[in-house]
Amino acid sequence: MTDDLFLQSRFFRWCTEHAPLKYDEEQALRREALSVLVESINAGEIISLDGIDTPLSKKIKAHHQLANFEMNSNWIGSSQDWMCPCCSRSKFQIARVGKKRQILAKLVVHHDHMGGALEAVFHAAFEKAGTSVEQVEGLRLVERMGSAFAAYEEVLICEDCNNADTEAKKLVESPLFFSFSPGQIKRFIRCGDHQPHQVDATMAQQIWQEAKPAYELRMKLIRAVGHAAATDAHWYEPYPRRTSAIPVFGYGDSVIYRSSDRTIQQWVSGEALYRALGPGKAASARNLSRWRTTVPKPGKALPDNFLAMLRSEEARARTWNSVSENWRCPICRRSKQETTYVGEKNKISFYLQTNRGFGKWVNASTICNHCGSTLMSLKLEVSELLGCTPTDSYGFVSPEELAKVIIPSAHSPHSILPAEAEALVSLVVQRLAQS
Ligand SMILES: [Zn+2]
Ligand SMILES: [Zn+2]
Repeated sequence: MTDDLFLQSRFFRWCTEHAPLKYDEEQALRREALSVLVESINAGEIISLDGIDTPLSKKIKAHHQLANFEMNSNWIGSSQDWMCPCCSRSKFQIARVGKKRQILAKLVVHHDHMGGALEAVFHAAFEKAGTSVEQVEGLRLVERMGSAFAAYEEVLICEDCNNADTEAKKLVESPLFFSFSPGQIKRFIRCGDHQPHQVDATMAQQIWQEAKPAYELRMKLIRAVGHAAATDAHWYEPYPRRTSAIPVFGYGDSVIYRSSDRTIQQWVSGEALYRALGPGKAASARNLSRWRTTVPKPGKALPDNFLAMLRSEEARARTWNSVSENWRCPICRRSKQETTYVGEKNKISFYLQTNRGFGKWVNASTICNHCGSTLMSLKLEVSELLGCTPTDSYGFVSPEELAKVIIPSAHSPHSILPAEAEALVSLVVQRLAQS
């Protein structure tokens, strides 16, 4: 209803009449914006982001007498004056030399797994109950309550602190869904500059024993709530949530508390930014041809009440309703039901990707996500081979060409014909090199 009203609004008409800037002009401006931004960051004018040539990184390189960084996107996306809330070390103190004589510069988002435990219980209980009525509020309840069962909020910490958590969990043999909070990690680590933490096993054991009763209680509650949410007996009470513990570019509602991000995002995508500021391919030797050789696991059969489970999530219900009953993916020819699959934590998943339907894509403006990810893998591989990314994510290949390398099967990602796919990679590289 609200959507219909929006589509009739003067504002929406204005938007359709004022198509975005000409594509080429926009791309050229975006490239210019990115290079000006990188210059400003490297000159030290902007410190809310980081990269391999910032003043901080120059200081780190000089300290270690090394030039190679292994740097991840959380490091690049966070401020140069950030400090780990767990070990209280600055980025300079955290950066250390890795096994391959590279400088490790990595930050991770540490989170509690209780939300995951609740979702797993919910999906299992839903399937078992065989309820054929969608439990929209039940699922929303579960998604919103996940964090309520958490012992702490998601938080950005250094990789050494995160590794110490993993090591301590192994030492004390704690259960799957348990993790130590930043405050608890702080108590069992012995830390120094430019080196991994030592874990005090006795202290870790003591802290786990202290935490255990609360963990067990939470798991008991989670089982009860997950079960109630899946079977009609739930209640629903929304509560506002603010993520402010992860001050990383583009993360969640980062624009609210990192005001410069909004201006940056108008012109520069996160992907382009991380590529421009990061160490590029040297640090992470990704195997970009793996998509052609990996055989996907066979898909699980859908439970009888899969549609009710799917429709319980509003976004998935909208996607399901956005195409007609007899829709088939124009590339792999699978029906809606065949495209649906059992995802992580037994979540029923149905995703589509849309494009503007230009040129060869005129009859394929809506495709399934498995075809979409095949296309993305192809694009990544040819980008790597060419050393640049095609400006148009679709135009470099036709839906028919893509269809020829795919062996579709129901409820699972596509298998790929290796020889055909290799030939397609060469063809596209040739095509783009000539254009
Ligand atoms: Zn730390
Ligand atoms: Zn498809």
